[in-house]
Formats: sequence, C-alpha cells, structure tokens
Amino acid sequence: MTMKIDTIRHSLSHIMAHAVQDLFPGAKFGIGPTIENGFYYDFDFIEADRRGSKHGLTQITLTPEDLPKIEKRMRELIKQNIKFEKRAISKAEAKKLFKNQPYKLDLISEIKDKKVTIYKSGDFTDLCAGPHIKSTKEINPEAFRLVKIAGAYWRGDEKNPMLQRIYGVAFNTKKELDEYFKQIEEAEKRDHRLLGQKLDLYSIDDEVGPGLILWHPKGALLRQIIEDYWIKEHLANGYELVRTPHIGRIKLWQTSGHTNFYKENMFSPMKVEDDEYLIKPMNCPFHIKIYKSQTRSYRNLPLRWAELGTVYRYERSGVLHGLTRVRGFTQDDAHIICTPEQLGSEVMAAVRFGTKMLKDFGFRDYKIYLATRPKKYVGSLKDWKKATNTLKYVLEKLKLDYETDPEGGVFYGPKIDIKIKDSLGREWQCTTVQFDFNLPERFDMTYIDKKGKKQRPYMVHRALLGSIERFVGVLLEHYAGALPLWLSPEQIWIIPVGSKHRKYAKSLGRQLQELGLRIVVRDENATVSKKIREGEIQKIPYILVVGDKEEKEKSVRVRDRKRGDIGMMSIGKFIEKVQDETGKKK
Ligand SMILES: [Zn+2]
Ligand SMILES: [Zn+2]
Repeated sequence: MTMKIDTIRHSLSHIMAHAVQDLFPGAKFGIGPTIENGFYYDFDFIEADRRGSKHGLTQITLTPEDLPKIEKRMRELIKQNIKFEKRAISKAEAKKLFKNQPYKLDLISEIKDKKVTIYKSGDFTDLCAGPHIKSTKEINPEAFRLVKIAGAYWRGDEKNPMLQRIYGVAFNTKKELDEYFKQIEEAEKRDHRLLGQKLDLYSIDDEVGPGLILWHPKGALLRQIIEDYWIKEHLANGYELVRTPHIGRIKLWQTSGHTNFYKENMFSPMKVEDDEYLIKPMNCPFHIKIYKSQTRSYRNLPLRWAELGTVYRYERSGVLHGLTRVRGFTQDDAHIICTPEQLGSEVMAAVRFGTKMLKDFGFRDYKIYLATRPKKYVGSLKDWKKATNTLKYVLEKLKLDYETDPEGGVFYGPKIDIKIKDSLGREWQCTTVQFDFNLPERFDMTYIDKKGKKQRPYMVHRALLGSIERFVGVLLEHYAGALPLWLSPEQIWIIPVGSKHRKYAKSLGRQLQELGLRIVVRDENATVSKKIREGEIQKIPYILVVGDKEEKEKSVRVRDRKRGDIGMMSIGKFIEKVQDETGKKK
C-alpha cells in the first residue's frame, strides 16, 4: 500500500525534474523514486545549458548553491496548482516522445507490456507507473527541502555514465520537517564514532586493517563490565560456558556447509602444513563438536552452551561503519540443544532472557519480528510449520506484540528477532533466536531417547545483545556517551582543591575503591575548573571536589553529570546514594 506522503514525495521528484528542465534546458533524466523520508532524481547535464548562461553548451556540475535555486523554482511550480495527468500510450509513441532522452529510451526498451504509462504535469512529461497526487495543491511548499547532491552511475553500474543525483526530504508539515532536521543533528552529536574518540574507548588503525577494533583501556574495561554481567546472568539462567578456537580445518566448514552457502562472507583459507584452515565466521560447528565428543542421552538435554565467541567476517570496506559494521566481532552466542518436546519452553526462556537483559541496559522499547520461511530453504515443510508455530506460540504465550516478517527467516529455519528502539527512535537488531534444521542433520547429531533409540536433537542459535562491538556502539548512541553509572568505566573523579588536600582525596579514593567503585583521583597540577570541564566532556557520572571544609567535615562536594553541583554531602550519604544507583540497574 502506498502511503499518501510517499505519493507526495514521488510527485515532488517530478516537480524537481520539471524545475531542472526549466533551469537547465537540455538536461537528460534518469529515474526519480521515493526513499525513506524523501525522494531523489538522477540527471545528466552533459548537453545541458544553464538558463541565462552566456557559455552555451558545457558540461554542468551542480553545486550546493544550485539547490536553493531549484527549490525556488519548485515552489513557483507548486503554487501554479499543476495537475498530474496519466496516460497510456504505445511503446512506439513513447519512443518518439522521449527521443531526446536516452535513459528513458533505455527504460522503455525493457518494458514488456505493449503500452507504457506517462504522467504529464504542466510542460514536464515523465515515463512513470505512478501513482501521483491530483495536483500540486496537495503539496505543502514549506515542508520539503533539497539536501544533497551525489554522483550515481546509471543503473548503479560503473560501466554506465555517472549521473548527478539530487536528494530531497519531504513531510506533511513544516513541523515534521523541522523535527527531521533536529533528529539528524541530534544523531550526529550521538555518533558513536565521535564519542568513541572523545571518550578514548577505541580506535581503528589503517595499518591493522579496516573494521578491526583496537580497544583502549577504558573501552576494554567497558567491555569487561558488560561481559562480566553477561556471564553472571548466563550462569544464573542455566547456561554453561564453552570456549572454542578462532580457526578450524576447511573440512569442518565443508561439513557445516559454510564453504558453500557462506563463502562470500568468509576470509580466504590459510595454508598450514598440507591443510587449509579458515578463520571462523560463526561458533556453531565448534559447539556441535563438543556435543559430539560423547554419546548424549535425553537425560542430558537440554544443553545450553554460551560463548563470547569472536568471529571474523568479510565485509566490503565500503560498508564498514565504526563499531556497528566491522570485520571482527564478539558474538554473545549460545546454542541450545534439546528434544522436540523441550523446544517451546527453551525458546520461551531465551526470549524472556533477551528482553530482560535489554531492559537491564536501559532499553524498554523494542519491536519483535517473527521471520518465516524464505524461498530458498532446507528441511521439510512440515518441520518448518511446526517450528514456526512453536515460535508463534511462545510470543503469544508471553503476550508480546510482534510483526511477521514474511520470508525473512534464514534458509535453515524460522527466527524471532528483537529490535530495540533507542532514545531517537531508531531500531537496532539485537536479540535473535533462530531455529536450525540444517546443522543437526549435516553433523549427524543424535541422542538416545527413553526407548534406547537414536534421535535427532533440535538446535537453536541465539544471541541476546548481538555482538559486543555493535552493542557498545548502540549504547553510546542511545545514551549520547553518558553511560549509566554501573556501565561507566570511570564512575567517580575526586579532585582536591589544593595540594594540601591530596592526602584526603587519596584516602577517600581508596575507601570508595574498596566498595567496588571505579575511582580516579585527579590530583595533577591543573586548575579545578579545568578538571571539572574535562570530566564533563568525558561524561563522568560524579565528580567530587574536596577542600578544607570537606576534609574537616569528612564530606564531599558532589557534581552530578546531569544536574551540576548538588552540594555537600557526608561520605556515608554519598556512598549510600551511588550504591543505590548501581544496584538499580544490575
Ligand atoms: Zn512518477
Ligand atoms: Zn550458531
């Protein structure tokens, strides 16, 4: 179903092309679809003229200064209440109509129907299937903006000519448009790549290689805090921990099928003696080998094996992005191996565990998707139905709202995905619980049932946070770097006012450290205000300033990251306050 705003956005792409036709006679037109929040149109200006230019035909390259001019012309056109008229014409007629438009001719030649549809709005005509608005009256001239120019190959093929693409955004109201720009600005401020640098958490080094994360001391500590929590929770939820190597013989990956269906995502094999090894893109085959290291009975099941397993996947350098799209990352992985009867309760426990963990990190808003059988799949239709129904049953039993993602499953089984919504309303994929018909079969996994017969176990892959790298990126963007107290690598700074207060600052630091708090005493030679400013940039939750009065009264002056100076407080009262705060989330 096309939403009204999409029709407006697409109509604006025609209006933009119309304005370009007016301002740059001779321009050639590519395509002008809608995209999220707006639209674009591709133009070729090789034989175009700049209206009013004395230079005649030259190759024109658009500059940002052209955008307001095109926008102005668009608003003039919109005010004329131009009607959009649809017409079906024969292909021969269309070829004649677009004889000076090579890209349109290219499109026409690919249309299989005898007739094509065109849309005429004023003196601009486009090859288009629609739909469109009735007239430009329906467009709010204050609720759109042209935002960007970029190069784009015709049909995305670098063998084709490079066209110039103009992007626009459009909404129903000026208010929505303003909110959109505010959101963009806010997102830029929260960019985890900037925050990662500002807070000195991680870096990526060209000589090490793109998409490979170097964790600095504070970032490594943050990871450790997350991983310690994760391990503690897993042990409390009936999981056992396993550890597996980073590389394995190519034969293992042939058995699992990865060399076949996952080849493009893997690093090339390395030769060791007379054998080839692959660096692991997934942990599953190793966990299966642990399962197969002995005969398993129904009495051993379910088995829940968890590993913070670092995997490597080949991603093209163009798509790499900070911590959220990398080549090496640590999955918070687990495999549940169970009998068919146990599947429902195991999946239910995993989903419940996932939502609880996300809540602990401060994400209360999420969307759940049930992804069903894709076109290409393994396993029988009967099994797929049964597994999909089990997942559905779990979501309904837990009274969780979910959407179906038709054909969104993996080829080896259906899955439940949980996407969290961050403070800007952006969705991030975290928890995934995936059913697998493939690997138990390929590795011939079995268990002995009550009657002493061999049976095939069920296998579920699940990750709750997704990967530690990505999750840290999401946390940074969600909190704009101001991580909750329990996650902050440096929780409290203590700043002595003068050198004579150093001793008190240090002993106070030791006292708090013994309580498990992460303390830094900033007693180097620099002004108090400079240190406070630095602490604010570093988003330190609490800064304690201690001078004569504080020392004499065994107290501290507290600066809260959010509220600023919150006054003097006894040491005991401050301890109570922070312990209460760290206790809440953990
Ligand atoms: Zn159109
Ligand atoms: Zn797996």
